[in-house]
Amino acid sequence: ALTTGIVGLPNVGKSTLFNAITQAGAESANYPFCTIDPNVGIVEVPDERLQKLTEMVDPHKTVPTAFEFTDIAGIVEGASKGEGLGNKFLSHIREVDAISHVVRCFDDENITHVSGSVDPIRDIQIINLELILADLETVEKRIGKVEKMAKSKDKDAMAEFEVLKKLLHAFENEKPARSVELTKEEQKIAKGFQLLTAKPVLYAANVSEDEITDVEGNQYVQKVREFAKEENSEVITICAKIEAEIAELDGEEKQEFLDDLGIEESGLDQLIRAAYQLLGLDTYFTAGKQEVRAWTIRNGTKAPQAAGVIHTDFERGFIRAEIVSYEDLVSAGSMAKAKEQGNVRLEGKEYIVKDGDVVHFRFNV
Ligand code: GDP
Repeated sequence: ALTTGIVGLPNVGKSTLFNAITQAGAESANYPFCTIDPNVGIVEVPDERLQKLTEMVDPHKTVPTAFEFTDIAGIVEGASKGEGLGNKFLSHIREVDAISHVVRCFDDENITHVSGSVDPIRDIQIINLELILADLETVEKRIGKVEKMAKSKDKDAMAEFEVLKKLLHAFENEKPARSVELTKEEQKIAKGFQLLTAKPVLYAANVSEDEITDVEGNQYVQKVREFAKEENSEVITICAKIEAEIAELDGEEKQEFLDDLGIEESGLDQLIRAAYQLLGLDTYFTAGKQEVRAWTIRNGTKAPQAAGVIHTDFERGFIRAEIVSYEDLVSAGSMAKAKEQGNVRLEGKEYIVKDGDVVHFRFNV
């Protein structure tokens, strides 16, 4: 399963946030494909469309889709030197598909900062530098292997060497791979290096309880935003402490609490949706009397593989998919009406399932 790793220096609010994630946690029985591991938190993906479909179909049950966050604990500074725990830290990062980087943007005299003061950019750079150094080593090794072949005009080696030089230049200037402009072809080559700093990053600026409703006044957040913009990363603001409180509430109570604070959507829900997007994930729906349910696919997945997310038999025996877009279905008011209006299509094996498609698969058993 795809997963987002949560990283951050000590005392920035990482565990508080991760606890909120596991507290809010999804009913794992619904998601047998998810990893069972204390360092993995399964979250349900908030989606208003699922609510609307439920109202329309009135099913026995409704199941949101879910995905995972992994808590990447461990020593950060000096990780690239490969000492014990540091090595582990890097290998955990290698396994995740995207990174949520928690950054301390709150002042609190009672909570010591490992570096003595609150400075989110310095904090970000401490972690990023370790990852950059690890990537630098990867790239240098690779250069050692292809340089000669490139100089003797081997076409593939030359193309690879060009990409390596660009990356090397970035790393020497302490810039991550994701900040390097590459053509489509070059991106393909770079993918093969499995660089840590090529993974998409989302910065979660952890602000104090009294600032969550007015983050614009927080200078730390402004700085993080500027920094993130330069490397094409995204920022969300969150108050981990409040999220931990919210996570203990259920639906209605949660809404009241948010209304009291004057917040539209909890920081955790924002984080979940942003991470989902960052991972390049789409949602399609199945909507029957038994169950209305959201399912996750990677962007660009074809119908049989999308069916395979439900069950491997669906993929193996795939015949056709009956598809209506969420918008068409809701505006029609029912599946029967949508059919009357000619908005339900039959699609075959080559069809790429789109975000918001409501699907009924036909398959042989
Ligand atoms: P970690 O070391 O990054 O996992 O940090 P923790 O989650 O253990 O948090 C360190 C301390 O900061 C704890 O005492 C938390 O209660 C506190 N903390 C975390 N988030 C916030 C926050 O948003 N506001 C304030 N004031 N304190 C927080």
